[in-house]
Order: sequence, then structure tokens, then C-alpha cells
Amino acid sequence: MSSGTERVRLAVYHGFARTGRAPSVPELAALTGLALDEVRQELHALHGSHDVVLNPQDNDQVVMAHPFASVPLGFSVMGATTLWWGGCAWDSFAIPHLLQDEPDVLVATRCPACDTPHAWVIGRDAPPQRGTQVAHFLTPMHRAWDDVVHTCANQRLFCSTDCVDTWLRRTAQERGYVMDLGTLWRLARDWYTGRLEPGYTRRDPDSAFAYFAEVGLHGSFWGLPD
Ligand SMILES: [Zn+2]
Ligand SMILES: [Zn+2]
Repeated sequence: MSSGTERVRLAVYHGFARTGRAPSVPELAALTGLALDEVRQELHALHGSHDVVLNPQDNDQVVMAHPFASVPLGFSVMGATTLWWGGCAWDSFAIPHLLQDEPDVLVATRCPACDTPHAWVIGRDAPPQRGTQVAHFLTPMHRAWDDVVHTCANQRLFCSTDCVDTWLRRTAQERGYVMDLGTLWRLARDWYTGRLEPGYTRRDPDSAFAYFAEVGLHGSFWGLPD
């Protein structure tokens, strides 16, 4: 990654971490010392490498820099003084693992099937101690980047597997993958480690598969054996 690209990447991530929202192109220019058009070029490069996701209608808007999002996708993540949109169940549970000054956060959502509100305090040290809710991920990992906003929007938390099945019937969709809260927390814990530091590179497929297996996932949904 060129030094300009890396500077813009870090400015996007640190802006999201600090304020809960995506820095604008002028803000990124001020933070990096680059010209507006140079910032736009670097954002395009970062979109191409899946380090950020730009709004297709307005390329100046960063929609996601995983695990952060600038649009509502079903989750709020509340820190001591900052409020984030969690990109999905996975991303919302990941946010406290990335933020030095936020040892835990309040993750809140509603069950997509029955609208029951759910909230958990998610910290770095242990999975949530209470909660029989389940996460359901709709899109298999090898298709995740076909439409990543759709993928994240469908990684949700439900009251139970009954609510997952009700929602799948209602929306005429096939079941993806269901996991308990402990597995979701372990998946979120180290997935994004290093993303706020200089020189971060995204996991290659082999390291991703190894990580998924280590946290207890299995099956073709994750590119793993059953
Ligand atoms: Zn429900
Ligand atoms: Zn996500």
C-alpha cells in the first residue's frame, strides 16, 4: 500500500473510532495533507482493496470501514461518550476489541423476526455471561463481498432459532449459519486486530480459514469441512 493510501486508511479508521462517523473528504484532506482529488483517488484504491466501502451513489461517502459503519444496519454501539453504528452482529461485537479507551460498550438491536429489543454489555475479557439469543449470518463467506452492505445487513441477532426460522420463512430465504453469543464474541475478538495501526494488511484466505476454525466455526459456509 502506498504511503498516501495508508495515511487515508488510518485517517478514516481513526476518525470513525474517535467520533462514530466517517470523516468527509475535506476532513481527510486536512488530516493527511493531501489534496481533495488525491484523497478521492486513495478512497477508490481502498474501496478496491476492500479496506473501505464507498457509497455507489456518492463516492465521497465512506459507508463502511469494518467494523465501523456510517449508516444504520440494525445495531447501535454505545461507548462512554461515543455512539457508533455497528455494521452487523459481528462488527458490533468487534468494536470494543479495537478501542483502547472503551473497555466495554452497550450493543443494542431488535430481533428481525418479532421486534423484541435486545441489549448486551460487550467487553474484551469474556463473552456475554447471559443471553440465549443466536446470531444468524445469511451470506456464505465466499460471497460476502458480492454486496457487502447486504451481507452485513443480514448478519443479525435473533431471540432464538425459532425466530430465525420464522424470519427465513417470511422472507423466503434459505438458512445461512447460526451461532451462539459465545461463538460470535470469539469470532469478533481478534478478527480486526491491528486495523487501527500502521501497516495493517487484511487476512489472506488461509489465515481466515484457520481463524474461523479456531473460534469454533465449521462447514462450507466458512470454507471449512463439516
Ligand atoms: Zn424474536
Ligand atoms: Zn459486518
